[in-house]
Amino acid sequence: MIVTILFTGWYGYSNFIDTNVYQNSREYEDFVDRALYEKELFKTNSNAQVEYDYEEPFATAVRKDTETTDSISAFRDHKIKARIKECKKMVSLEESEDLTHACIVDTSVHSSGNGADSLVIYTKFYEEQDRKMVLRITDVQTYLFSHDMGKELEPLQALNVNFRAKASKFAKEYFEKTFGEERLKEDWKDYISDSDDNYNKFILTGNTVIFFFNEDTVLDPSYGTVTLKIPYQYMQLAIRPKVLDRYIDPNKPMVAVTFDDGPGGKSETRILECLEKYGAVATFFYQGMLIDDFGYNAVKAAEIGCEIGNHSWDHPMLSSLSKKKMRSQIERTNEAIKNATGIKPDLIRPPYGDFNKKVNGVIKSEDMASVLWTVDTRDWESRNPKKIFKSVKKVKKLDGKIILMHSIYNETAKATEKIIPWLVKNGYQTVTVSELVKYKTGKLPKAGDQIRTIH
Ligand code: ZN
Repeated sequence: MIVTILFTGWYGYSNFIDTNVYQNSREYEDFVDRALYEKELFKTNSNAQVEYDYEEPFATAVRKDTETTDSISAFRDHKIKARIKECKKMVSLEESEDLTHACIVDTSVHSSGNGADSLVIYTKFYEEQDRKMVLRITDVQTYLFSHDMGKELEPLQALNVNFRAKASKFAKEYFEKTFGEERLKEDWKDYISDSDDNYNKFILTGNTVIFFFNEDTVLDPSYGTVTLKIPYQYMQLAIRPKVLDRYIDPNKPMVAVTFDDGPGGKSETRILECLEKYGAVATFFYQGMLIDDFGYNAVKAAEIGCEIGNHSWDHPMLSSLSKKKMRSQIERTNEAIKNATGIKPDLIRPPYGDFNKKVNGVIKSEDMASVLWTVDTRDWESRNPKKIFKSVKKVKKLDGKIILMHSIYNETAKATEKIIPWLVKNGYQTVTVSELVKYKTGKLPKAGDQIRTIH
């Protein structure tokens, strides 16, 4: 839908504007320069250059950063062309070819501290109306790239799975405080909830995450595109210290390797080194009581993109405990993991897979999902690397499955060194349990879910 918007702050330039729209290329350049500095959504590099292309009745202008990588500038130029083409299409559709139109595209590239480059493309489409140039549409597109590899990144390669929850909390307070209920749209909360549909447009600037909200979402359409700037200090646990260059193709087979009972010592260090070597990830379900001794492995696991889950404090049968004791087992462990790694687990694997309605009720009220398994290597029983490897190899189709191992045995470490390259060679992507659920179902696990195999 096209919304007519009066450009805020317009009347400061009323002399120029009210007499008529621009008459020549020099006046057009003045118009563009003002338009670019009005309602800036982001800062451009000081070397950014503007390319003006004055033509009646459809003029364009593009501002670009000069300092960027070749792959991003090629990608950017392609996207700019597409934006301009779309604006042009709107003109002919409306049969108003005789009126003056301007499509102004502002772009910028930002580097974050974690190895991500962000590209933002901001399009403003103006149309002549009663001898004035009126801003009719604003639109923002954002893209993430790996600085080292130049490849486009998915949000979860630069941010942790909890980023929407963090942003949502900040957004609620910020919008309420800044605009108050009376200026916010009736359904504004739908656009700031932590649903997967929200917070998909953002850039990382190095000390701030800037989220963009389409016009006519949280605020009245006259505000145009709305920005929300969140300093990194409020997003600390949500920004990966280093981007993952791993890309997950949702159409290719994927498997979640999981390790229980750690964090462990040497055996787990060996497992982590193997994962890192092959660019693979796993999910570790930790016992809270071991974090003090082996927290360094938990930190390493988080750094290389593994997921960390809860495996109780000291491995009791949860179903034999009172609700209060069960809660304490879960909460103490979450707290210890969070203190060591900065990540609050969303997943729990009940020790022994011991699970009933009461256990699930408590897990749900702790806002967590439980994870069981589909391939049991029985590594704790055989303690035999060959047998462990075989128990994985013999499964015909591993896509969507969850493999269970334990990171506290050297034999398991040895088996992992065979299993991971075998999975890679056979075309399996290793993913975390949350990623498996997300890519297979389109949604992240939610409180109370019981996860086994996902098709
Ligand atoms: Zn266990």
